[in-house]
Amino acid sequence: MSGDSARADGVLHGLNETQRAAVVSDPGRCALVLAGAGTGKTRVLTHRYAWLVESGHARPGEILTVTFTNKAAAEMRERICQLLERPSAGGLWIGTFHAQCRRMLQRFHAEAQLPAQFQILDRGDQSALVRQVLADRGMPAKRREVRDAVAWISRCKGSGLRPQSVAPDAQFEERLLPVYEDYERRCRRGGMADFDELLLRALELVRDHEEVQRHYRRRFRHMLADEFQDTNELQYAWMQLLAGAEIPLFVVGDDDQSIYSWRGARPDYMLQFERKHPGSARYALERNYRSTKSILDVANRLIEDNKMRLRKSLRPNDAGDPAPVEVQDVRDEIAEADTVVAQIRRWQEQGGNFRDCAVLYRTNRQSQPLEAALARAGVPYRVYGGLRFFERQEVRDALAYLRLCANPADDVAWERARGAPRRGIGDAFARAVQREAQRTSSSCAQTALRLCAQGGYARAVAGGRAVVEALQGMRAPARAGGLAQTVAAVLRDSGLQAMYQESDRNLGEARCENLDELLNAAAAFEDAYDPADHPDGDALSAFLDSATLDAGERGEGAAGDAAQLMSLHSAKGLEFPFVMVVGLVDGLLPLAFGGERGEEASLEEERRLLYVGCTRAQRRLLLLYSHARRMAGQFADVRSSRFLDGLPLQWLATGPAARGSGRRRAKAHPELALDADLPPPGTAVAHPKFGEGVVLSYEGGRAQLRVQVRFARAGAKWLVYDYARLSPLPEGARDGRSI
Ligand code: ATP
Ligand code: MG
Repeated sequence: MSGDSARADGVLHGLNETQRAAVVSDPGRCALVLAGAGTGKTRVLTHRYAWLVESGHARPGEILTVTFTNKAAAEMRERICQLLERPSAGGLWIGTFHAQCRRMLQRFHAEAQLPAQFQILDRGDQSALVRQVLADRGMPAKRREVRDAVAWISRCKGSGLRPQSVAPDAQFEERLLPVYEDYERRCRRGGMADFDELLLRALELVRDHEEVQRHYRRRFRHMLADEFQDTNELQYAWMQLLAGAEIPLFVVGDDDQSIYSWRGARPDYMLQFERKHPGSARYALERNYRSTKSILDVANRLIEDNKMRLRKSLRPNDAGDPAPVEVQDVRDEIAEADTVVAQIRRWQEQGGNFRDCAVLYRTNRQSQPLEAALARAGVPYRVYGGLRFFERQEVRDALAYLRLCANPADDVAWERARGAPRRGIGDAFARAVQREAQRTSSSCAQTALRLCAQGGYARAVAGGRAVVEALQGMRAPARAGGLAQTVAAVLRDSGLQAMYQESDRNLGEARCENLDELLNAAAAFEDAYDPADHPDGDALSAFLDSATLDAGERGEGAAGDAAQLMSLHSAKGLEFPFVMVVGLVDGLLPLAFGGERGEEASLEEERRLLYVGCTRAQRRLLLLYSHARRMAGQFADVRSSRFLDGLPLQWLATGPAARGSGRRRAKAHPELALDADLPPPGTAVAHPKFGEGVVLSYEGGRAQLRVQVRFARAGAKWLVYDYARLSPLPEGARDGRSI
């Protein structure tokens, strides 16, 4: 194969020596880049891709590249297209594990025993189907039972176990095994695959079909994987099967950023890598190009407390004297959100962009007060993950019809479509349809049509016929191939648009707007749709897949410059000039587990999560926590996170926004009202033994009052107030001091 050596050299610009060595490492051998955050692992991976192409070792379509989140995959595609000066990533194999598996299953659907237009079930659909199975079997089907059953099935699939190979070893599992079997049967009948199924089925596809294996081993010459530390058993097995002995793997990762062990990810695959692939090269990168020295000092100090890790050092690239990492305590999560807004505003007033600010949290629920405060203040923002656009009721209603257009055997979609809008199809008819469908092994939609023709169920039949007719009307444009046109027909003919137009004014209006938004999304998707990426699919199926697989976004004024809100998990691999991590309290970060997993192991994983958060920051990092917050519906006092202890942080003066409108909140939790003679949180104090520090919070009644102080040298400590002998330092003494 011929390459262009000038262009290949060009790709090596902007890399340091070790990065360059990794990029040009022997194309015939496996390689592992094991390095800390921000050291350029992803940069090395994208440059490796471009180098392989420019130096003639592979054509772009011959490199399989996997990563974890959609946002990371999109950024990677963009970086690679830039390097290769390509207008689009059409025809390239750069994407998430799930997306790549879906693509293979679609190409070899017959071998995988799936219909050409199989449907992907998201978590919501999966729960709905499991609920149906439980109910039909006369088993309890409340939220908890459904959740447990879904989790168990997911675990089985994650370990590669089909029902016939599960050896139930507890009563619980014995009870659930038939549920798993039934669930699988229904998925098969409906041509549906959940997320775990995509991985397992793709693994079985390459494992059991030699010709498929041959096909991909001929097609791919190289495989690259980012964030390798979060690969689970199935994903790794799939990669190894695809690669065989011929295709070299090039993987990059950081054990300190492994945050998916609860999903079965195994950072030790990284350690086994060299054993499994003898002769592979290993590279370590140490220079961090992302963050300032003070941010790295905090990150390094934090992760040092983890015992289960390979010690790697991170050196800052920038030797300057950067702004210190700040911490601020506030009264509750409302004040916390107000503080975040004030900070973003100030950032923008000083010439920064909104989009450069990221607010990170442990659980998606935490976005709610933040969103409210941002909306109130008119600050544009975008939320990643959480309740996604495609999960809204009205959007799901519309998607159900679209799914039936793509695949009439989709029974989950039928269940939804029959009830929205209401057409008088009662439960009795629905049950009859289901029973009959089961008996004849046909789909609910088809069965409904047959039962309608037979008569009986007068009112229900009229409703059933209406659904079926509506569906027939929608399928014409779907067959003709116009995606936006199909969506428009669905919104009209299903009666959803009319229903929401007539419903409760405000809510109805918002819902109609969302339906319009769905239409816009479809039109945009159609514009960008490249059939080369979907050799065996069509635009409608591709759109439905993306609605299920994409992380989804929402927000006010989200299209332009907007602040970014996301969970720590979804921030992986990304970077922002200004990062705020909120909710740094025990119980949230670390999250309180009632878990089966080892206490210490989960604590370390929580610490890694905060480490991932801190290392996202380029120039400024602010950590926030509150003294009280609503947790599990209760307003409660909380303690600052133990992870803050001992970090080199600087206290940020508590502004008026952070204090909140005192009276209202003091009333809400009077235990927080402090005696006037106590030094309030934020006061600089001196302790005879521990030296200087800052008061963080109090707990307990006056008789056994305890005070939390963060000492410059000794970290945060709880002390019994009466014995602590703290003396306040003069006003202003703490400003500028590192605590
Ligand atoms: P993470 O562990 O968070 O995924 P990473 O190791 O993948 O981080 P990158 O995202 O590739 O790191 O790089 C971090 C930042 O440093 C990026 O902005 C990247 O452009 C920059 N960078 C990396 N290497 C260099 C270099 N040699 N010269 C200049 N900038 C660099
Ligand atoms: Mg990266």
